[in-house]
Amino acid sequence: MKNPFHVMIIPTLGCPCNCSYCWSSDENSPVMTIDTVRAIAEWLKDLKDIPVTFTFHGGEPLLAGPEFYREALPILSKELTHLTPDFALQSNLWLLTPEIAKILAEYKIPIGSSIDGPKEINDSQRGEGYFEKTMEGWKIAKENGLNVRFICTFTGQSVESKDEILNFFLENGLTLKLHPALPSLRDNNPDKWALSPEKYGELLIYLLDKSLEHINDLEIMNVNDLCRCVFTRNGSVCTFADCMGSTFAVGPDGNIYPCYRFVGMPKFVMGNVYEKPSIDDLMNSDAGKLMTGFKSFVDKECGECPHINYCRGGCPYNAIAPTNGEIKAVDPHCAAYNKIFDEINERLNKEMFEEPGAGISPVQSRIRRNKKPGVMALMRRNILK
Ligand code: SF4
Ligand code: SF4
Ligand code: SF4
Repeated sequence: MKNPFHVMIIPTLGCPCNCSYCWSSDENSPVMTIDTVRAIAEWLKDLKDIPVTFTFHGGEPLLAGPEFYREALPILSKELTHLTPDFALQSNLWLLTPEIAKILAEYKIPIGSSIDGPKEINDSQRGEGYFEKTMEGWKIAKENGLNVRFICTFTGQSVESKDEILNFFLENGLTLKLHPALPSLRDNNPDKWALSPEKYGELLIYLLDKSLEHINDLEIMNVNDLCRCVFTRNGSVCTFADCMGSTFAVGPDGNIYPCYRFVGMPKFVMGNVYEKPSIDDLMNSDAGKLMTGFKSFVDKECGECPHINYCRGGCPYNAIAPTNGEIKAVDPHCAAYNKIFDEINERLNKEMFEEPGAGISPVQSRIRRNKKPGVMALMRRNILK
């Protein structure tokens, strides 16, 4: 499978919220100018000849305001028509106005937003008033025909209320994407909110069970992705693929990084869009070498792991950012990935063996067809959608 080409645009690292576990916002961050957007288009014109997806990320990307999107979207679309650009946006929706919503709707931009469950749980970790403001933004998004999916960050605390959180998503008919709280590199107590790999692994199995239990009315994106990875033996999301060289992020000043997660960390600057670096220039920068160094490290370190082809050592940011670029280990969530990949493999093998026609009588096969849905049923549902 060809790696997708993904460019994340970070108009600013500023954000009006103050979530307790935030590791990415910076209140002193500048806002990207339209000249920098033009420089992005110039840089990309001859960089790669494959379709590109742009994601506006932050901080809070809507802080850039309606004028920014009114000018940036036509520049990127028209200057890069040969790359058939697609767009997406990740936002807490606090600043979504009907004016911005209409601009985004014109380009059919899907939005990823963040809510951590019912109001009480959400606000206890994201701050008083967060829930109401995001819900207000969601209303405006819906009124303007925008499609919103929610990422739910599970912390070491909120994981204890997983039933309540899941019911919230179920009752509201929302698609859920799980995000485990990471240790914050900007906090004196980085692990205060982090979800441990053991708890994360247990949570993934819990969510797999819930996905199957509610196969017709609940969609959990991570579970779909994990099953697809195992089924196709190929990493189908960035965490489980080699993202180096196929994903880049551009910060407010035009600096280029391997991913939005590194933006603002000087050690991970690969170049600047105004210099129009080639892929070779980027990958030969110190930051580029670190990323390819991680890939080689995974080949050795995970060489004996049965899941290596569709896990690839997990996310390089998780692995190398906490050590300021020293490659010492793979993604610390390895234990969680191992657990869920083992589980899906076991279930898939069992189901394949039990498929009607695999050496069982018609009566046995009828009984089995009435049993609870399994991983294969989930894969079929996703293909048929
Ligand atoms: S909404 Fe996102 S960027 Fe803003 S403070 Fe919360 S976690 Fe950080
Ligand atoms: S660094 Fe991690 S989050 Fe970023 S693109 Fe790579 S795998 Fe994805
Ligand atoms: S599960 Fe762990 S050991 Fe296996 S490939 Fe993933 S990170 Fe490496």
